[in-house]
Amino acid sequence: MSRDPKYDILFEPLQIGPVTTKNRFYQVPHCNSLGHGRPLAEVENRRIKAEGGWGVVCTQEVEIHPSAEITPSFEGRLWDEKDIPPHRLMTDAVHEFGSLAGIELVYGALHAPNNYSRIAPMSPSATVIHGNYPIQARAMTLRDIHDIREWHVNAAKLARKAGYDIVYVYAGHDMSILQHFLKPHYNRRSDQYGGSLENRVRLTREILTAVKEAVGDQCAVAMRLAVDELRGEDGLRAECEGRDIIGMLAELPDLWDVNVSGWDNDSATARFEPMEGFQEKYTAFVKTLTSKPVVGVGRFTSADAMVSQIKRGVMDLIGAARPSIADPFLPRKIEEGRLEDIRECIGCNICVAQDMIVAPIRCTQNPTQGEEWKRNWHPENIQKAASDDGVLVVGGGPAGMECAMQLGKRGYAVTLAEATKTLGGRVALESQLPGLASYARVRDYRESQIARLPNVQLYLDNRLSAEDILELEIRHILIATGSDWRRDGIGRRHAFSIEGVESVSVLTPDDIFSGTKPQGRVLIYDDDHYYLGGVIAEQCRQDGLDVHLVTPDSKVSSWTENTLEQEKIQSRLLSLGVSLTTSHELLRVSEGSAQIANVYLNEHQQEIPFDTIILVTSRLPADDLYQALLPHQNRFKTLLAIGDCNAPGTIAAAVYDGHLAARNLESEVDFYEPLFRREMPDLG
Ligand code: ADP
Ligand code: SF4
Repeated sequence: MSRDPKYDILFEPLQIGPVTTKNRFYQVPHCNSLGHGRPLAEVENRRIKAEGGWGVVCTQEVEIHPSAEITPSFEGRLWDEKDIPPHRLMTDAVHEFGSLAGIELVYGALHAPNNYSRIAPMSPSATVIHGNYPIQARAMTLRDIHDIREWHVNAAKLARKAGYDIVYVYAGHDMSILQHFLKPHYNRRSDQYGGSLENRVRLTREILTAVKEAVGDQCAVAMRLAVDELRGEDGLRAECEGRDIIGMLAELPDLWDVNVSGWDNDSATARFEPMEGFQEKYTAFVKTLTSKPVVGVGRFTSADAMVSQIKRGVMDLIGAARPSIADPFLPRKIEEGRLEDIRECIGCNICVAQDMIVAPIRCTQNPTQGEEWKRNWHPENIQKAASDDGVLVVGGGPAGMECAMQLGKRGYAVTLAEATKTLGGRVALESQLPGLASYARVRDYRESQIARLPNVQLYLDNRLSAEDILELEIRHILIATGSDWRRDGIGRRHAFSIEGVESVSVLTPDDIFSGTKPQGRVLIYDDDHYYLGGVIAEQCRQDGLDVHLVTPDSKVSSWTENTLEQEKIQSRLLSLGVSLTTSHELLRVSEGSAQIANVYLNEHQQEIPFDTIILVTSRLPADDLYQALLPHQNRFKTLLAIGDCNAPGTIAAAVYDGHLAARNLESEVDFYEPLFRREMPDLG
């Protein structure tokens, strides 16, 4: 198959300064927590994107000097010559496929606590640094400003030596000294670098000019600018400073990479920015002010939306971070006319969360993400079946669907049995809730792939018992029957059943999924701390109910700090009129009334009346079937519980577990033992 001619424009080459990209697919810089700590994994992660057809493949942020380093994070590092070899591996890998390699050079300043170098951070003016680190940054002298210019130039020269084609000057995400200079919040200087916007832009202009002079003959110099901080008058605004800055520097860089700040706005989740191209309203003006190519992002996964961006003159290159994580082969699939094979990002930010917790990247949709080197997994290829054996997968949720699909691709004769009339398990249910519609993509992608695999037989509306399975005489059995929310309140705060729960009618998320409508005053007790408690509160408010959410944590949906959603969730719940009581645990429940206590001062207790109580605490594996089969284990070659049935977790964990089990079935490499390849420090 070949591509539809209407997508030809996406495959046109484009000159960027002294270099030319072969197409319009541009993997913008994005973190993956591999970086200098796991360089071989980093190289393979980027190499696969080049193989997948991205015309430009960029690094993550790359520190340029020890006075601005972000330990414990593992992003990129290019302090001196010693850091070049892993970068050279990366650029060689990207060039193998005729793609361009870009590097985002960063001086982190207020974003860099210097936990490794222990050098006091610097800032335009003396101020506190980001987060709640109890340290402050010192004000930069003119000598420091001179040094920072030099460090950018040195890093750009090192980048050129390492083989990069595009070198970034970065003022985005509130993570770079140049953005800090632009902002009056941080820049209270009275010299030529502070005060007027012209003065605040001065350092950016100087660095752009110096970097161009240093490497501009061979490398394109890209300017990454957050044109709006989405803080109204309290921050940079596209219609004011954003427009003026672009106007002042319009023709200086070879490429404008424009977005919104902070990271939570740039990488907004689908729950808060459901639409593809959501940044257009902020960045569309840029092309009217410059003749240089413009790249921007917006969780683009559809070829039509991409073409529209280019044809309408919004941007010249389609930038993507998350869509390239969910599907590194997105460009190739468009090129080959295989749109239905695209694994669309669901906008959940599990990828971001890994970076936030300083762990290697993972992705809900793409279980091979971050595993390319570690396990030698390729997102599009899987080893052939080792035998003609049949395989039964029980349960058509994320784990079962991924497992059945991959086993089907391996060539096994697969039977996938699902108790209900539809596939999808938890994603089919959760995607009905406010803001989670895109979660259905986890099902949709796999359902359409499975439908095209003649060797995968689907049996819907087919709840299997242990006897049924024993009768089938299939030798490989994978049980993916999911999990059930607990009714007893056991969770993170409570090791034992909450007093009184057995005597009242308690609802759980499973009841909400199956259509039970809460009534009257609703009390939600969230001891899970991920998204579901907050989403159910939102749903109940939309249904016009009085909602009171109680959580033992000091914030609602606290784990979503890692998906960059927590503040947005708390604001949304408050604006919807949900009553929030944080730092309180549920002590006991009786008909119509709950007693809660402050987790720090237990004697501070209060009664909360309710008509419906919903407990969102923790889940139990739905493993009755697996347990019933275990005594007959010797009748099978494989009997394995996977996904939530094995250990309830994220959707990403279930997909991964299904994938792992499919790879491991009759595999020469035992993916469970030895675990995986590790990168060891070079003791020389
Ligand atoms: P996971 O996230 O691990 O994939 P889910 O809870 O999303 O788990 O999906 C589990 C699926 O298994 C659900 O669709 C459920 O209907 C199905 N299921 C549960 N028990 C059986 C059974 N005995 N036979 C067939 N399907 C089952
Ligand atoms: Fe998209 Fe979620 Fe994958 Fe990130 S983890 S790329 S947001 S699907």
